[in-house]
Amino acid sequence: MRYIEPHGHMVSRTTDDYTDMAAAGCACVCEPAFWAGYDRGSVQGFHDYFCQLTDYEPKRAAKFGLAHYTWLCINPKESEDVGLAKDVLGIIPKFLDRPNVLGIGEIGLNKNSRNEMKVLEMHVDLAARAGQLILVHTPHLEDKLKGTRLILDVLTADRRIRPERCIIDHVEEHTVQMVLDRGHWAGMTLYPESKCTAARAADILETYGHERLWMNSACDWGVSVPLAVPYAALEMRRRGWSAEQVDSVIYQNPIRFMGQSAKFKAPA
Ligand SMILES: [Zn+2]
Repeated sequence: MRYIEPHGHMVSRTTDDYTDMAAAGCACVCEPAFWAGYDRGSVQGFHDYFCQLTDYEPKRAAKFGLAHYTWLCINPKESEDVGLAKDVLGIIPKFLDRPNVLGIGEIGLNKNSRNEMKVLEMHVDLAARAGQLILVHTPHLEDKLKGTRLILDVLTADRRIRPERCIIDHVEEHTVQMVLDRGHWAGMTLYPESKCTAARAADILETYGHERLWMNSACDWGVSVPLAVPYAALEMRRRGWSAEQVDSVIYQNPIRFMGQSAKFKAPA
């Protein structure tokens, strides 16, 4: 089996996780910027994090034979402070030329607040001006449907944004169709406690098709499973999917989406 982990917060994971992922067939890992488990207090904190994502972590991944890509932003959870968000958006452009940066993400909404919306629009504007791909986080549980609608409307309202260059992540049964209908890609996150199980993800693929869908583990510092994608592939095989069909979802689809950035090199 070969696969790509399109959403893993590897700075929070151990070298054992890298070893297990490489042994399971992972070819490359993509790491959106996210919340650290606490609010960073200053723009300097983000600067150091962006250095970690663009310099140290790719070198660490390379030790395990994995290419490492990243996405930059201030996470929605930290977007209540619009002043800080403006300062962070001010330093992102100088990182966009780094060789492993694929775009802006994971932006989006958390509590669907007014300030989060403002910061989301600022990120979308930056992505449009800089010609970057976009990776979007959608809110949890009861906030997801409303938040997904708000996010889709922000993306649609900006005429510069090409829908096929945006992936809306953490979709579930009640949000996947509206995302695909707008021409975006959709990501399913495989979590043991919330979001999608492997069985639910396979159901969604069987119901909505797998043209513009990918799966990820979104492994981070919380309860999450770095090998969730290969485990879901086993569930698909158990249901009768051919090895080629599984490969198209867990390997070729991430390449098709991320390959829209000239910096993304398909694994050799
Ligand atoms: Zn994430």
